[in-house]
Amino acid sequence: MSSNKKILMLPGDGIGPEVMHEVARMIDWMNDHRGAAFEVQEDLAGGAAYDAHGTSLTDETMAHALASDAVLFGSVGGPKWDNVPREERPENGLLRLRKEMDLFANLRPATVFDGLADASSLKEDIISGLDLMIVRELTAGVYFGEPRGIDTLPDGTRRGFDTEVYTEPEIQRVAGVAFELARKRSNKVHSVEKANVMESGVFWREVVTALHEAEYSDVELHHMYADNCAMQLVRNPKQFDVIVTSNLFGDILSDCAAMLTGSLGMLPSASLGAPGADGQRKALYEPVHGSAPDIAGQRLANPVAMMLSYAMMLRYSFDMMAEAELVEQAVKNVLTGGLRTADIMSEKTARVSTDVMGDAVLREMGKLSASSSAHKVSGGGE
Ligand code: NAD
Repeated sequence: MSSNKKILMLPGDGIGPEVMHEVARMIDWMNDHRGAAFEVQEDLAGGAAYDAHGTSLTDETMAHALASDAVLFGSVGGPKWDNVPREERPENGLLRLRKEMDLFANLRPATVFDGLADASSLKEDIISGLDLMIVRELTAGVYFGEPRGIDTLPDGTRRGFDTEVYTEPEIQRVAGVAFELARKRSNKVHSVEKANVMESGVFWREVVTALHEAEYSDVELHHMYADNCAMQLVRNPKQFDVIVTSNLFGDILSDCAAMLTGSLGMLPSASLGAPGADGQRKALYEPVHGSAPDIAGQRLANPVAMMLSYAMMLRYSFDMMAEAELVEQAVKNVLTGGLRTADIMSEKTARVSTDVMGDAVLREMGKLSASSSAHKVSGGGE
């Protein structure tokens, strides 16, 4: 690993800095033990940036994000900023990053770890071992389509309207991400729309089918209506590997899938853009949860979602598969060993603070790393 990997770290507000701190320690560990050459720059975003600069994301921070290989984002917002002008709300900093980095593919894994199946509201046998990925289109569709508005018809009737619109390249690029991901997982994609009642759904299905035939015929492809997909997610979620869908349906289905796993504190995400001239995609990694003002500053936050977001960064931005698996396995082992933050506590487990959880995962990474290199050394002589 020769060249440095530039990471912009934006911890944000509330529990954001607390969970990011645990990831910063992991990055140091990777540099010390794996020669990873991560070069980290830290900056303000959200309410913290508003307090310091009067804006939720400065132009300078935006430029750093565009120049970095990956952005690690904590969370933003909180009641302190409820009354700031709408255009400077903490969340706008994140929206600006997504827009200017053109992060069109939002990856939301829903994974159920052994021993945590009882945290789900569904029966254990339905969700134990679950490992699915939702790829949500993030920069087009009905949230951005024109025309949109609220107006009054000539007869005086008021109406509100939005437009669901997708171009062929917008569908192709997000479907391409889903097919590529499936090839590295269980090789199955469900493309989800409402082709039965929406023209944009008919078009979505047509474009995905054509792309599949032209470039990804080795991947198993299924088409499913969004309402059926919602039902299947709670009936038999293990039938899915990768689900690709529009912005609106992805918004709803990914929250539904998230809850299969029990706690917001466990859920990572990645948002990817198009590959640049060097083949590297712009990318931002963040936990699904918000800034949790109710528990901020109390060492109660679960750092796992942030840690797993870092693992996604290792995998998708830097192709460091072994290191990503090391982080994920260390988290799994610590949870199986019975250490839990308050949000995922159950009987027979020990409640620990954010930093003690971080200590335990780091220790486990050390152990796993030592045993795998010992294994390699002894294996080499055979
Ligand atoms: P939230 O995700 O912050 O919290 C919801 C509940 O889950 C709270 O009870 C919280 O304590 C708990 N929780 C969340 N993450 C946790 C963790 N890692 N460990 C343990 N418990 C955890 O959602 P909210 O309360 O609706 O929003 C709070 C603030 O966060 C708002 O200002 C909102 O706008 C913002 N928000 C930001 C983002 C983001 O930065 N991407 C996302 C969602 C919400």
